[in-house]
Amino acid sequence: MSIDEHYEQLLAYIGTHMPTPFAQEEVDGVIIFTGGSPGEVIVRLTDTSVIVEEYAVRWESPFTPVVRPRRVGLVKWRRLPESELMTVVGELIKGAREMRRSRYRICHFCHNTFAPEWMSDDVTCRQCVEREAGVVH
Ligand SMILES: [Zn+2]
Repeated sequence: MSIDEHYEQLLAYIGTHMPTPFAQEEVDGVIIFTGGSPGEVIVRLTDTSVIVEEYAVRWESPFTPVVRPRRVGLVKWRRLPESELMTVVGELIKGAREMRRSRYRICHFCHNTFAPEWMSDDVTCRQCVEREAGVVH
């Protein structure tokens, strides 16, 4: 199998293994997949590597969420035979997703589940904190 075919297979494989819904864009020759809503996994596909990241957000200011993913793994895809490559990439995507989802918390006040960036602390979501702050006792 040629490198081009290998690449196409990999592209198709990632597309079918991302958490849904997912977006796919190309930036400077790198294909970037962002999957999940809220985001769960980011995969970057370059000429030589597949980089799998756990989606994460940091607040640069109280009103500015910035995506700051955590790298889970990097695979030099040209160096692996097809079946091993797909298995490794599949496991990395699964692992990144599990890590991300393990950080979700249930708010003790509204009982909704939130991604960590929407929690104010371990037990209170940002909405409930804001609502409380707006109430005059
Ligand atoms: Zn809440």
